[in-house]
Amino acid sequence: MKNLLVTGGAGFIGTNFVYYWLNKYPEDHLVVLDALTYAGKKENLTKAQKKIEFEFIHGNILDQSLVESLIKNHGIDTIVHFAAESHVDRSIKGPDEFISTNVVGTHTLLKAAKKIWLDQSPQDHRFHHISTDEVYGSLKIGDPAFTETTAYEPNSPYAASKAGSDHLVRAYHETYGLQVTISNCSNNYGPYQFPEKLIPLITTNILNGKPLPVYGDGKQIRDWLYVDDHNLGVDLILTGGKVGETYNIGGNNEWTNIKIVHLICELIHKQFLKDKKLIQKFPDCPSSKGSHPETLITHVTDRLGHDRRYAINADKISSNLGYSPEESFDTGLTKTLKWFLEKD
Ligand code: NAD
Repeated sequence: MKNLLVTGGAGFIGTNFVYYWLNKYPEDHLVVLDALTYAGKKENLTKAQKKIEFEFIHGNILDQSLVESLIKNHGIDTIVHFAAESHVDRSIKGPDEFISTNVVGTHTLLKAAKKIWLDQSPQDHRFHHISTDEVYGSLKIGDPAFTETTAYEPNSPYAASKAGSDHLVRAYHETYGLQVTISNCSNNYGPYQFPEKLIPLITTNILNGKPLPVYGDGKQIRDWLYVDDHNLGVDLILTGGKVGETYNIGGNNEWTNIKIVHLICELIHKQFLKDKKLIQKFPDCPSSKGSHPETLITHVTDRLGHDRRYAINADKISSNLGYSPEESFDTGLTKTLKWFLEKD
């Protein structure tokens, strides 16, 4: 049985991780620590809050004494660190919070973990750090996908802040012997994602009849993974991964942004043709008015320093830990759209 501290558990991936873990390991105890920024919603965890194995703490990862007391009082043996400022556009407009939460916040957690797990009461433990493929920079068409040994070349303040936190986590292992693992994952999609990222933004804008902003030519390529396939990878790393190692997690599923926008338009339009009740629920959607969502597509000025392509080589986690994503893009996107269509 494990006692986990999940930081950022009220955000998109953290929420899905909490449900994944409670469902798969019902004996384990989970404490979520979340500052409830614009991206975190306590209501996401309403169903988890009914379980005695679950506790929600409203607090900040920058509060070292709070983190120390949580580790001690809840007998925490595993930290899964999702908490972050996570949106590239926001990092371009205001990088400070990204340095504060992603770099200083991660360092605060590391200091607390070291103090309790190594200095005060030595014990087996795990600090798992959730990171991103964006630390590796941008690929050209035809370049091989990122591996765990690809040099870091972060291009946005977000990516640089995540790269900084990855280095600190590694250093706490190399210097002090903290039992860490790191995962670098590609773009996630699924339920509970805040509608500022591509898939939830396009979906909610279609349903509300708002323009669908596409950066530049829309030909930026991302490697998309259903959120619970990310959580499956984290699970395998927590249960069988080697301390001190980094694992890439990805779905081998590269798509241009513009193709995804067209695909979501088409999937939603078909759903409206099948289910007439959606017309009452979403009267502003073009599909409710005899038009097609594609009419909402609007090209806007490209993001500064926009990375052209990301692609993950997930061979290491596949061959060492038997990882294989369970959802195809088709099944994952269908589940995701269903969640948005059924949401109040
Ligand atoms: P998110 O923005 O949806 O959620 C972040 C959560 O962290 C929110 O609940 C927020 O309230 C909380 N938080 C922020 N600052 C905090 C602080 N100082 N103290 C405590 N809680 C704080 O992010 P997400 O998309 O769920 O991403 C989670 C992690 O996964 C991040 O570390 C991100 O870098 C990484 N990641 C995300 C993706 C993706 O596609 N979304 C891909 C790869 C890696």
